[in-house]
Amino acid sequence: MRQSKLFTKTRKEAPSDEVSKNAELLIRAGFIHKEMTGVYSYLPLGLRVLNKIASVIREEMEKVGGQEVLMSSMQPKENWEKTGRWNSMDDLYKVGDSSGREVALGPTHEEIVVPILKNYVSSHKDFPLYIFQIQNKFRMELRAKSGILRGREFMMKDMYSFHTNAEDFERFYEIMKDAYKNIFQRVGIGHLTYMTFASGGRFSKYSHEFQTISSSGEDTIYIDETSGIAVNKEVYNDEVLNQLGLNKEKLKEQKAIEVGNIFDLKTKYSKPFDLDFTDESGNKHTALMGCYGIGLGRLMGTIVETLSDDKGIIWPESVAPFAVHLLLLGEDEATLALAEKVYKSLIDNNIEVLFNDRKEISAGEKFADADLLGIPHRAVVSLRSLKEGGIELKKRAEEKGKIISLEDLLKMLASR
Ligand code: ATP
Ligand code: MG
Repeated sequence: MRQSKLFTKTRKEAPSDEVSKNAELLIRAGFIHKEMTGVYSYLPLGLRVLNKIASVIREEMEKVGGQEVLMSSMQPKENWEKTGRWNSMDDLYKVGDSSGREVALGPTHEEIVVPILKNYVSSHKDFPLYIFQIQNKFRMELRAKSGILRGREFMMKDMYSFHTNAEDFERFYEIMKDAYKNIFQRVGIGHLTYMTFASGGRFSKYSHEFQTISSSGEDTIYIDETSGIAVNKEVYNDEVLNQLGLNKEKLKEQKAIEVGNIFDLKTKYSKPFDLDFTDESGNKHTALMGCYGIGLGRLMGTIVETLSDDKGIIWPESVAPFAVHLLLLGEDEATLALAEKVYKSLIDNNIEVLFNDRKEISAGEKFADADLLGIPHRAVVSLRSLKEGGIELKKRAEEKGKIISLEDLLKMLASR
């Protein structure tokens, strides 16, 4: 893509109404646009990142047997009354229309997925099932001040699993722990992310959160480096530590962001809708459920919070909006010709490139923009690089670049 055609522009000043680093950097770099508190639009660069994150998550969910659906955001009030959450859920958006009808704007989808399945499953042979979607959620968040870490409208991957017995649920729950570890590894925050024991509420002893260490996190966790697991402060007591075999002395206190969580739901939502099945002997039972969430925007914001420096964002290659940022410096014919040739070659080789071909912009400004946008590789074509025999290639996270030929550039980027 040519940057001269990209409608967004970078800005030098931080937006005055944002306090979080993720919102400040993403707005300055033109990835997102704030509509109101807790509500953001994703612009071309931001959407590319969001889509890459979605692809990683989708791949891992399909690997464990997940079937993707897209459920409705507008949800019948009756379904929410059936589970009792029409009145008990504080952050539920209730929307009325001119006919007086009220609907919920989905903050989560148990009230939709269970009635859907009821139409199709009835025998133990229909189980297990893993249903997921990637979709916008709506929640009346009171504390929406952390940019895209906590939105009132935000994108979530939510999966719901359905089982005939507890052993089968446990089996799949372990598989999901690994799938989540893969996801956070693949998007570049695996080294900062800990599976964290949290209170399971009424239904089970523990739930598991995936917490990424960050000073901007709302949660406090205690980490055991040896085992690589952590405990949320909310459940942290001697009894819990004992049960988990953790030594208090060795635990490290850290602030962290909850990027995902997995839950045992037992029959909390299957029961109100009578999601039953018959076993081999023809006896009826209620299906068991688990749920598994990841906030895509929150994950994107967490990457920005944890992997940026004072110049801007540093995207991991797996989620970067482009693989390479090509900068044209100078307007003489030879430089222009080489830059155009490099741009075309990259496209022909299916390497995603953002080409800063903007005119009348100083080299310093183009460098600063490249650092702010955070594309993993920067390829500069200038009179100087031309004289030295090619293109100056530098990784975003490194200080110094090196001159390489077009052929080597293509080879290097194709072999990533
Ligand atoms: P939190 O405790 O942070 O409010 P939650 O327990 O309400 O999270 P879930 O309802 O289980 O979260 O949602 C699953 C995932 O969706 C969370 O792990 C998080 O990554 C993401 N998420 C939840 N609320 C928001 C939000 N307001 N904005 C962005 N992402 C969110
Ligand atoms: Mg919440």
